[in-house]
Amino acid sequence: MNPIVYAIPVFMASILLEIVVARWKRVPTYDIPDALTSLHFGTLSQTIGAFVKVLGFGLYVAVYERWHAMELPANAWWVWVAALVVYDLIYYWIHRFGHEVNCLWAAHQVHHSSEYYNLSTALRQSSTGAVVGWPFYLVMAVAGVPPLVFGVVALIDLLYQYWVHTELVRKLGWFDRVFVSPSNHRVHHGQNDYCIDRNYGGIFIVWDRLFGTFQEERDDEPVVYGIRKPLQSYNAVWGNLHVWKELFANSWQALRRGKLGDAVAVFFAPPAGWGQHVEHLDPASVRRFDTGAPRTVRRYALVQYGLLSLYATHFIAVAPQLPLGTRALYACVIAAATVSAGWLMEGRKFAPAVEALRLVLLGGAFLLLPDWFGWVPTQQVKLAVVALLATSLVWLGLGLVKAPEESPTL
Ligand SMILES: [Zn+2]
Ligand SMILES: [Zn+2]
Repeated sequence: MNPIVYAIPVFMASILLEIVVARWKRVPTYDIPDALTSLHFGTLSQTIGAFVKVLGFGLYVAVYERWHAMELPANAWWVWVAALVVYDLIYYWIHRFGHEVNCLWAAHQVHHSSEYYNLSTALRQSSTGAVVGWPFYLVMAVAGVPPLVFGVVALIDLLYQYWVHTELVRKLGWFDRVFVSPSNHRVHHGQNDYCIDRNYGGIFIVWDRLFGTFQEERDDEPVVYGIRKPLQSYNAVWGNLHVWKELFANSWQALRRGKLGDAVAVFFAPPAGWGQHVEHLDPASVRRFDTGAPRTVRRYALVQYGLLSLYATHFIAVAPQLPLGTRALYACVIAAATVSAGWLMEGRKFAPAVEALRLVLLGGAFLLLPDWFGWVPTQQVKLAVVALLATSLVWLGLGLVKAPEESPTL
């Protein structure tokens, strides 16, 4: 089973704790539509991962079995330590290319698209980047790092990076200069001039010091989070596609001018363009995306995410056993929930009608189908879920119609 399933309750509990502490300390680090969108991105990334991550790991195992140069023992501590250090070094370069090459940035920019910085931002992960890193890590398979060691080390590297996404932990002295930490990773998420293309490390920030990309957080200029071409949307599917769309549009334009080389080069240019310096940004000029989503909408979207997190966790757990077509259908059910909630929070006129249709289809399927993607719920569970969806439908009809006059605070 995907080990992320076990981490999900820890993610949720720690995010709730951070919200409480942030409110207590009066640090305005959370915005509900932004945080929900981050969670939608994370959910989608894990959903798509159920299709592609298995292939990546399968490739690693195949290369290891066919070409491993040495027999490294999985029961020796030094193999684990060395594997973690080498994995983190490769991660540094993949991450760096993710910022310096357009086709890799198109996938990675998702993680940077939040204009806030909190634990939910850590879960804002790309759906189109899952396959990008695998070819680079195959060098570890050839070197003889057993698949079990590789898989665990990759998980440690990923999970370590969760806790650094917070504004509540300030500078940590020597730790900030050796390990990736809240302070130096805040710089990585900044769009200030001094933050661009800095601090790529996963666990060790020493790689940045070694390769000349380290930048300490400055006290005189607070970090302004986000990307220079802002997403300005709560739609997590669109958030995965908007830079790809721009790249393909630019490539198409070059093709129409008959410049085949330029059409290909678009995908490999740096995000700021060939030979161009990053433009100056006045941090005071940045306005965070805010549609003024009313309190009712925010609460409604939160409740729907509570339900989505349950069936998305079920999906991640059972995906390997589901036939491809069924798995794809389940993935669409999940994607529809994220898009619909995004449209509601953006205040789109058609959003309540789309959401009502989604609730009716979801409730009808849950009630009438003999099983829910391999799980047979009891009658009581069926009734409870359908009652929740029916209540949501009434809430949608009564609450959201009146919503625009309400205050935009949760
Ligand atoms: Zn990055
Ligand atoms: Zn990050």
